Amino acid sequence: MPHEMNGSPVSGLPISGHTALYAIFGSPVAHSLSPAMYNLCFEHYGLDARYLAFDVGASDMARALDAMRLFRLRGANVTMPGKQAAARLVDERSLVVEITGACNTIVNRDGYLTGHCTDGAGLIAALRAGGIDIRGRRIALLGAGGAAAAIMVQCATDGAAQVDVLNRRSARYKAAGRMIERLSERQGTRSVALHDWADQTALRSCIAAADILINATSVGMAPASDAVPLPPACRLGHLTALVDIIYNPAETALMRMARHQGVPTVLNGYGMLLYQGAAAFRLFTGLDMPVSRVAETVFGLDPGPPL
Ligand code: NDP
Repeated sequence: MPHEMNGSPVSGLPISGHTALYAIFGSPVAHSLSPAMYNLCFEHYGLDARYLAFDVGASDMARALDAMRLFRLRGANVTMPGKQAAARLVDERSLVVEITGACNTIVNRDGYLTGHCTDGAGLIAALRAGGIDIRGRRIALLGAGGAAAAIMVQCATDGAAQVDVLNRRSARYKAAGRMIERLSERQGTRSVALHDWADQTALRSCIAAADILINATSVGMAPASDAVPLPPACRLGHLTALVDIIYNPAETALMRMARHQGVPTVLNGYGMLLYQGAAAFRLFTGLDMPVSRVAETVFGLDPGPPL
């Protein structure tokens, strides 16, 4: 019978000489919910597999990937600070990894490592679970950091009509400009535009034209939970959906502002977090993650999408 240990459901299946091993590499990593999430899924399907967390910094990622090959780990997730190193070190890269230079999921097929990034797919799946299809929609994306870059590339390649990215003229702004160029060279994509956050006219017109607004900045994240990334008078009522990818707090001040103005679908970052894991689980096993069970057991959320 499954039982609880330190909050993690543990499979009753015995560990054998055939048990498949999966892992997460990051530093710090002890707080990660990934072991609880994937071990619950293995137990759900009765799979002879286990998932462990290994504290690995960026400079040790080459050795971690060699260890994956040596010990035949079937797959791994990568969190900070090793995502860029992983993207450089894998044998093959998905388009999103190639464009963004960041990898959060590695699949090992007989020692050949393929790098993926599931954050953008997770955001799109969370919207789909909330009844929203991004295809043909205009998206205003606040931020150009790690999460925003993955969302930008995935939305552009998955059929959004337009993705308007707004960021301050920082190093990330320049990096996002280079990603958009690479995307255009690689895919012929012309649907992504980068705007200076300080240009209030551009900000207002991108939001006015958008169907979906995504906040992928850290503005509003605890402990500064009262902060809103937009001017107080900004009109949001025309939006089909607003997603704030922050999940602490579960309801940000921006989400309250959107609800107050009547936006019909308002989501926080838990759906993206859950569905990026579901996308990785599918890459690892070909199976659908039992999302309601994971949401309830691991994240303590009400079961069943939309989140
Ligand atoms: P990064 O540090 O890579 O990027 C932060 C982004 O926020 C940058 O675009 C930065 O712009 C912008 N920003 C920060 N402060 C301000 C400000 N005062 N005004 C305008 N823009 C600002 O972080 P991540 O991309 O990793 O994470 C961003 C947020 O997304 C975090 O809250 C994180 O918790 C959340 N997240 C959620 C995930 C999920 O699954 N739900 C997954 C990953 C992240 P600039 O370049 O100008 O500094």
